[in-house]
Amino acid sequence: MILILKSGVSEDQVSHVIDRVESLGFQAHLSRGTYRTIVGIIGDESRLAPESLRAIPGVSEVIPVLPPYKLASLEAHGEPSIVDVGGVKVGGGKLLLIAGPCSVEDPERMDRIARAVRDAGANMFRGGAFKPRTSPYAFQGLGEEGLKILREIGDRYGMPVVTEVTDPRNVELVAQYADMIQIGARNMQNFALLTEVGNARRPVLLKRGMSATINDLLMSAEYILSRGNSSVVLCERGVKGFDSCTRNLFDVAAVPVVKGLSHLPIIVDPSHATGRPDLIAPCAMAGLAAGADGVHVEVHDCPEEAKSDGPQALLPNQYADLVRQLRQLATLLRKQISPLPGVTV
Ligand code: PEP
Ligand code: MN
Repeated sequence: MILILKSGVSEDQVSHVIDRVESLGFQAHLSRGTYRTIVGIIGDESRLAPESLRAIPGVSEVIPVLPPYKLASLEAHGEPSIVDVGGVKVGGGKLLLIAGPCSVEDPERMDRIARAVRDAGANMFRGGAFKPRTSPYAFQGLGEEGLKILREIGDRYGMPVVTEVTDPRNVELVAQYADMIQIGARNMQNFALLTEVGNARRPVLLKRGMSATINDLLMSAEYILSRGNSSVVLCERGVKGFDSCTRNLFDVAAVPVVKGLSHLPIIVDPSHATGRPDLIAPCAMAGLAAGADGVHVEVHDCPEEAKSDGPQALLPNQYADLVRQLRQLATLLRKQISPLPGVTV
């Protein structure tokens, strides 16, 4: 940590800063420039609270040397980590292709969609049983019944399944049925929920909040990692923008930014980022080209009958076309769509 002192700081204040740092068990290294005086603090930075240092009279700025997300940082691991979700690997050149409807619906429909996306090349099936809806009157999901359907279909087609949890009280329940637990954008900073999924021994798909900075996203990942759950996959799903042409603003640059800061895999979700089927393929390709470790797409066989997010769903044949394009790009990037467990390529 580096403390920059105010210009015109008094000698008494400089001595007090040094005394305070030393009383906290750290070494202080004083450096006097022509205009500013700087105090370098030597020791384990994670034991220091920047706010209390900022409150010392004469201190102007407190600059941490290490990122505050110690476990999520690239330095913590040195190389990109690979997360295993029910035998499907993501990261380190292995791509995750998540597909399925927004909400879990009736078993026959789920069966049709799962078969279609698996045949197209998806390696994880999705569907929400607990839906975070803006309106309390909108479809809220099938709850445990939906989890049962999702599990059954996943087992039938040999695909791991991912589904959202919205309430800390349901984490255990969701973990019983799902291979991966999704934290949605609206809950990215629900710290009680992050702590619970951190305690659960299930990989977590952490979506970026719609108004969250990349630092916020990595700090939320840190909550999960700090509970001992090291299987975290991040997801860029767009942030609030000012232009209503798209549902959100797809922040494709977030992918290489995160890659430079963290070892955690990151995938993109062009469905929620754009809200428009015609933009999903170009944004999925852009995400992959930018270094994403996978793509999350909503697929429905009859969008007009979908219980939620129908207008942004791709039809199964459109999804199959997209996977063909993604496969070609993956080859160019020397990456591979992770095979389903038991399937040899
Ligand atoms: C979803 O995945 O269906 C969803 C609600 O996503 P988000 O949290 O990104 O809005
Ligand atoms: Mn959705």
